[in-house]
Amino acid sequence: MAFYCNDCSYRGKTSGHGGQCPACGSFNVSVPRVNSDEQKAPPRWHKIALVSSWSLLLVMILWKLIR
Ligand SMILES: [Zn+2]
Repeated sequence: MAFYCNDCSYRGKTSGHGGQCPACGSFNVSVPRVNSDEQKAPPRWHKIALVSSWSLLLVMILWKLIR
């Protein structure tokens, strides 16, 4: 992930002062830290574990109803 300027297409690992482009000084830039929320999302196994535990509970309830 790299810093990207929408005005002059500058790409770099660091941004300028105050988050502006070091090449042209524009504030119309894409900072990769905006996507930090996606990294905080729970992993896929978490969802699978949740679904499997719920289905196990459902099977146990059905088992009690049948017997
Ligand atoms: Zn620029």
